[in-house]
Amino acid sequence: MLALVKTAPGPGLTLAEVPRPAIGINDVLIRVRKTGICGTDLHIESWDPWAAKTIRPPLVAGHEFVGEVAEVGSNVSDFRPGDMVSGEGHVTCGRCRHCMAGRRHLCAFTVGLGVGRDGAFAEYVALPMTNVWHHWPGVDEEVAAIFDPFGNAVHTALAFPVLGEDVLVTGAGPIGLMATAVARHAGARFVVVSEPNPTRRALAARMGATVAVDPRERDLADVWRELGMAEGFDVALEMSGAPAAIRGALDNMAHGGSIAILGIPTQEISLDVNEIVFKLLTIRGIYGREMYETWYKMTVMLQSGLDITPAITHRFGFRDFETAFATARSGDSGKVIMDWTA
Ligand code: NAD
Ligand code: ZN
Repeated sequence: MLALVKTAPGPGLTLAEVPRPAIGINDVLIRVRKTGICGTDLHIESWDPWAAKTIRPPLVAGHEFVGEVAEVGSNVSDFRPGDMVSGEGHVTCGRCRHCMAGRRHLCAFTVGLGVGRDGAFAEYVALPMTNVWHHWPGVDEEVAAIFDPFGNAVHTALAFPVLGEDVLVTGAGPIGLMATAVARHAGARFVVVSEPNPTRRALAARMGATVAVDPRERDLADVWRELGMAEGFDVALEMSGAPAAIRGALDNMAHGGSIAILGIPTQEISLDVNEIVFKLLTIRGIYGREMYETWYKMTVMLQSGLDITPAITHRFGFRDFETAFATARSGDSGKVIMDWTA
């Protein structure tokens, strides 16, 4: 089969012919139809310090996908060839305290699809059946392809109650964009998006942001005062990893507010802990998706009218992966999809 492979340490990915993944008795082999490009894939492609420390080539990259079941192991009874599925990219150990208690998102021994095991930028991908998610018939195939980052957005946006609350989203990359729509769908009063990139601010408006501002030009305190908030934001969703964004959120929270942090800073950052203490803030880190409560919530919110399609801005055939990666890297894009059926 054809796959996008990191063949050796260093920059770049190679479209190469590799063997189809073998499956064990509990595994599902999936014919990949569409994939999404994630920031993680850009790190692997460019071979930054994180990738050099984490990735052991040869490796097939990619973890955001939708596909059709091609073959199942002898122990698998609830998946059949032809079923439309996506995969949870965090393969958990199944045996630690949290896995045994059903809190698999807290597993400390997770192996990442396309990071620690061969991934989905390929014609075929294999996963344990416990990592495979059935889609309902008629699901939008592009939306299905990005259930992984959509799940990051849902996990973060629903970390704290947002019904009737005023929400700040820092960073309108694909995940911040989707989180904006989720917060609106879940009943937030105002959703203010802070994002330096004008293309992404325009996308945020299409996702339902009350207002999208450039944090270099506008003081967030002026924005929430103009909207009539009394003290600042009740909930902040940090989706940039930018030190200035995290500090800006802390500065503009109401007393008793909550911050869910998904963004991954590239270095240590200093914060004024006094703001957390004297405003009695709650801060929670978010990693991945809850298995499978987040997946359930994604499904039913789409069925009840949530629309995340404006966050998908570009489509390429997999042979044009270099252009696809450049488009994702440019920042002047939402989610970039690669088609593996052409
Ligand atoms: P992205 O890099 O496409 O988006 C980040 C956005 O933040 C960009 O549009 C950028 O312009 C904006 N930004 C930069 N400085 C800012 C500032 N000072 N204020 C406000 N916005 C600012 O990333 P994405 O794919 O949307 O992912 C969002 C974040 O979540 C990234 O940091 C990513 O690494 C991280 N992530 C975490 C998990 C997890 O499980 N915790 C999973 C996936 C991604
Ligand atoms: Zn575990």
